[in-house]
This record gives sequence, structure tokens and C-alpha cells, in this order.
Amino acid sequence: MKEYKEEGEAHTKEQVSQLLSSSEYKAWHQTCTTCGACWFQQHWSPGCEECGGFAMLRPCPICEGRCGAIWKRSVAMSKSNKSAFWDGECGLSPEQQQLLLLRMEEGDVSDVVDMMEDVSTARP
Ligand SMILES: [Zn+2]
Ligand SMILES: [Zn+2]
Repeated sequence: MKEYKEEGEAHTKEQVSQLLSSSEYKAWHQTCTTCGACWFQQHWSPGCEECGGFAMLRPCPICEGRCGAIWKRSVAMSKSNKSAFWDGECGLSPEQQQLLLLRMEEGDVSDVVDMMEDVSTARP
């Protein structure tokens, strides 16, 4: 009886994961609740806070893509906050991020770009 039960559970899990990975489910799930744009189909609406100016992927928002990292939308968080929410990590070191933020406030990031180039060329 134990074997039968395990088989049954595995089958259910498989069905659930099939459902979750189907494009119909994703298209339905990855849709903006504010404007109805389907992020799964690379749609988003200008000015919509929940879309946040991107579909499912966006360049790193911390350094505005300077580190080359791509962040993925957290659909659940975006929907519950009614505001775009992104999962990811900036590729810059904490020191570089801090310096960049400081320079952005001052409106001059030219030094930071130079500094980042120095750092990347100095690495073996
Ligand atoms: Zn939207
Ligand atoms: Zn970054």
C-alpha cells in the first residue's frame, strides 16, 4: 500500500508542475493586475506602476544595468504591492554601489565609471 501511495503523490506533483510550467498558466499568471498587460508576452504599459517599465526581465536597477546583471520580476510581490518588484543582485561590490549611489545623488557618475573600469582591468 505504501508504494501505491508514493506513486500517487509523484503523479500529482508531476501534474502540478506541468500545469505551472505550461505557457497558458504563465500567460495568465504573469499579467499585470493594474493595466492587464501580459508580461509573459513582453507587454507592459508606459506609466503603469505595477509594470514598472519592463515585462518579466530588467537590467539591474541599482546601478541602472552597469554591472550587466538581469533582474527577474517577482510576480507575486508585484501584484500584492501594485508596484513592480524585482529579484536579483547587483554585480558591483558594496563599495562600488555606495559610491555610485552617492554620485547619482550628485548627478555625476563619470568618476564611478572610470573607477569601475580600473577595478575590472586590475583583476587577474
Ligand atoms: Zn501594468
Ligand atoms: Zn548592478
